[in-house]
Amino acid sequence: MALENSKFLFERSLARIPGGVNSPVRAFGAVGGTPVFFREGRGAKVIDVDGREYIDYVLSWGPLILGHADAQVVDAVQRTAARGLSFGAPTELELEMAELLTASLPSLEQVRLVSSGTEAVMSALRLARGFTGRDVIVKFEGCYHGHSDFLLVKAGSGALTFGNPTSAGVPADIVAKTVVLEYNNPAHLEELFARHGSTIAAVVLEPVAGNMNFVKPTLEFHQVLRRLCTQHGAVLVFDEVMTGYRVAAEGAQGLFGITPDLTTLGKVIGGGLPVGAFGGRRDIMAKLAPLGPVYQAGTLSGNPVAVSAGLATLKRVLAPGFFDRLGATSAKLVAGLEKEARDAGIAFSTASLGGMFGFFFRSAAPRTFAEAMDSDREAFKRFFHAMLDRGVYLAPSAFEAGFVSSAHGEAELAATLSAARAAFAEIRSG
Ligand SMILES: *Cc1c(COP(=O)(O)O)cnc(C)c1O
Repeated sequence: MALENSKFLFERSLARIPGGVNSPVRAFGAVGGTPVFFREGRGAKVIDVDGREYIDYVLSWGPLILGHADAQVVDAVQRTAARGLSFGAPTELELEMAELLTASLPSLEQVRLVSSGTEAVMSALRLARGFTGRDVIVKFEGCYHGHSDFLLVKAGSGALTFGNPTSAGVPADIVAKTVVLEYNNPAHLEELFARHGSTIAAVVLEPVAGNMNFVKPTLEFHQVLRRLCTQHGAVLVFDEVMTGYRVAAEGAQGLFGITPDLTTLGKVIGGGLPVGAFGGRRDIMAKLAPLGPVYQAGTLSGNPVAVSAGLATLKRVLAPGFFDRLGATSAKLVAGLEKEARDAGIAFSTASLGGMFGFFFRSAAPRTFAEAMDSDREAFKRFFHAMLDRGVYLAPSAFEAGFVSSAHGEAELAATLSAARAAFAEIRSG
């Protein structure tokens, strides 16, 4: 496949940018080959620097829920930018965003804006520690919460031991207060809280996991978690950076009927520009500076241009019927993929929720990190490239969720499924 200009730009990038990319998964390390450099996006499609068009199921890793270069979003950004890019002082747009977020997610009494998901989670957990006066943070294997030091951690040797760093540069001391448990395993939670309940500041999770491919929670897992946190006075933090305004207008928390103490947001709330947020119970939020002793700040926090893109996006996403249509699109996509794989005799399974989906080269959809890892990665790699060759851009890793936008319609679905039919046939024939 002709990727001449991408190859040329990637060669140049390798000289001046580590690995040629500004975020590791973009380097195509898991699938091999040259990362595609994009020149333009329009609706459901992206166009690369060689002029090839692709149907995009990455959507900037989730934010672009209306598709690329949506006219209303672009217009909002242009108008706001023309009046000044940043003030480092309060603006009405931030207030509008805070009111919209708290009105749509009932667990949010107050909210503070930041500039990334990483920052949102890091700040929420500092706040949880400051509020409880405790140190231990519990997370789950396969959940990603950004790249702050104390969250770059994997399970230790036993189920209930403290974690080990997953990145060089993270001292063991820094992760010594982070415990990693198995997702969807309420028994592990019961055991941990029985032993260490009074030291746990917070439990943080992706309420639907989208960073080990796509793994749905069980309702029991959520309910046990909520009960234990309440009983032991630990702060329950839903990291909805990916799922917020992506699986439903009321987030995963609304879908499952769970009220977290704190929620983190990002991705869709910036509509493609850098916006993150964390919020929740008023008594907890009152511990934040300048009201309370927990420090948190940001030069560009609540940036008006970024917030205007988010507001223009959220107003459309919150309109009645939006998620019915989006959910129907992803359900139809994965049902079609499953049928094509079955017709080709390939072990394959799928799952979807709202505008998020996953597909797996294994016979049943995974419920844990171990199950997600246990899939045919070679088959994924070949499928990825076979689809790319046919103009479908999927996430370049078997462990990322996929996304659809409101710009993905019947024509895109039909083209994707016909590409998939040919791709499955290609990988089956070796
Ligand atoms: C993407 C993501 C983050 C990190 O957000 P950044 O904006 O990349 O820093 C945190 N948590 C979850 C669940 C995410 O999907």
